[in-house]
Amino acid sequence: MKKNLIFGYLLILFFTLSAQKNTPSVFDPDLKIANQMKTDELKNSKVDEYLYLLCDKAGTKLTGSSGMLRTDTLAMLEMKKLGLDNVRIEKAKTWERGGWELKKAYMAMTAPYYMHFYPAPVAWTGGTNGLISDKVYYFSATSQEELNELKGFYTGKIVLMPDVMQYQINFNPLATTYTDQQLKEMETLPITTTKKKSGLPAKNVLLTYQDILDFLRNEKAAVVIHETGEFNVPVISFFKYKMGDPVSPCEINITSEHHGLMQRLIENGEEVRLEVEIDVEFINDENIYYVVGEIKGIDPKLKDELVIIGAHLDGYPMNNGAGDNVTNSVGVLEAMRILKSLDIKPKRTIRMILWNGEEVGLHGSKGYVQKYVKDENGNKLSEYDKISAYYNADYGPGKFRGISTQNNIALEPLFKAWTEPWHHLGFTTVIHRNFTSTDHVTFDEAGIPAFQFIQDPLEWGRGSHRVMDFLDRLVPDNIRHNAIIMAWFAYKTANLEEKLVRKE
Ligand SMILES: [Zn+2]
Repeated sequence: MKKNLIFGYLLILFFTLSAQKNTPSVFDPDLKIANQMKTDELKNSKVDEYLYLLCDKAGTKLTGSSGMLRTDTLAMLEMKKLGLDNVRIEKAKTWERGGWELKKAYMAMTAPYYMHFYPAPVAWTGGTNGLISDKVYYFSATSQEELNELKGFYTGKIVLMPDVMQYQINFNPLATTYTDQQLKEMETLPITTTKKKSGLPAKNVLLTYQDILDFLRNEKAAVVIHETGEFNVPVISFFKYKMGDPVSPCEINITSEHHGLMQRLIENGEEVRLEVEIDVEFINDENIYYVVGEIKGIDPKLKDELVIIGAHLDGYPMNNGAGDNVTNSVGVLEAMRILKSLDIKPKRTIRMILWNGEEVGLHGSKGYVQKYVKDENGNKLSEYDKISAYYNADYGPGKFRGISTQNNIALEPLFKAWTEPWHHLGFTTVIHRNFTSTDHVTFDEAGIPAFQFIQDPLEWGRGSHRVMDFLDRLVPDNIRHNAIIMAWFAYKTANLEEKLVRKE
């Protein structure tokens, strides 16, 4: 009897201890932090205020323009108000293009009848030097021989470039979010190697679009009109100008519908006339900047190490850059607000950076990496061994649904564990893809663990790089969600015993 009692007691003790061992997460102090992060965001969010400031008040933000400086300054002031350390606008590097600004854009068809158009001048091309009112010529040469015969003809004229788009009725929804099934499918990706293209494209058979454009630029046409975009929403594009070069002729993007209208009228023998006035300013500022601020680490051994969160703040002319990429810049700023609000004292320093120059070639992040991480010759610099991770956000106004390890499979267990508190919000997925086309690539290529979040596509392709990228299209609750996740990843990374494992 006594023996049985002792045995029973031991048995209970064993189960109690093992149960405690298997369910320690309830007592994980970081889960309390997770709770506090969510509660703080629900109670004290400044997302709406930041959105107004960096979209509506700041305005356009093309790298090198006065709008960029205005936006950087507004962001810097907010970072100072938060009480971040070492807040400043810092020069990243020089570049050869300099700034460009649109001062006026007007365009309308005046014959055979009046129709106003929405012109999107190509950034870094010239203006019209006042109002031009002239006949429009549709470019129709298709061979080099025809081109030679046309030498001198287009100088000083308004030229409509060849048709490149065919409008298609689209039955797809305007906006989408990822289904659980789609996220699941992203988790696997077999190894594939790029196949070599067979054969060479036929040369000199027909003129390419670029051949025609080069010809018209050399001929100094007065205005060159491109066809891009639909629904009166032109796509915006850039010309690769170099400071000191002669200014290239005025180029304007208009939508497929307006291009098609003029093309059909001309092909049917009508005389089409346009009034155009484009006024632009070239700015001789060869500097590219970023805005930076931080929460200092407190661990005596680790405080000089860094976790960086960032997004690009620059955009295009003619819009406010709301979905690309104010939405994510605000997410980063709000993540820092949450960390400050909870008075988090991280072991490592948590730094935020808002880049300029991303849309024109990742120049802000490249400048930073070349200054602090790895120079152009591959020499390791002061922060190479200090940065644990760089987290970037630049895939539109959608909610974070997961993160890619950027093919660093060793991080899967850690990142999966970090998603757990947020499964109820829809942040569930860890994948292994090499995400491209934005600032984390610069860090990844320099050997620093660098990541981009998976974001719901929403209206991807309708806003960014087009003239209608405004605050109305954003979803503030998605930014609140993203800010919590960013704050959490920054916090967890900053407090690890070790830096994140590197790929090589
Ligand atoms: Zn972007």
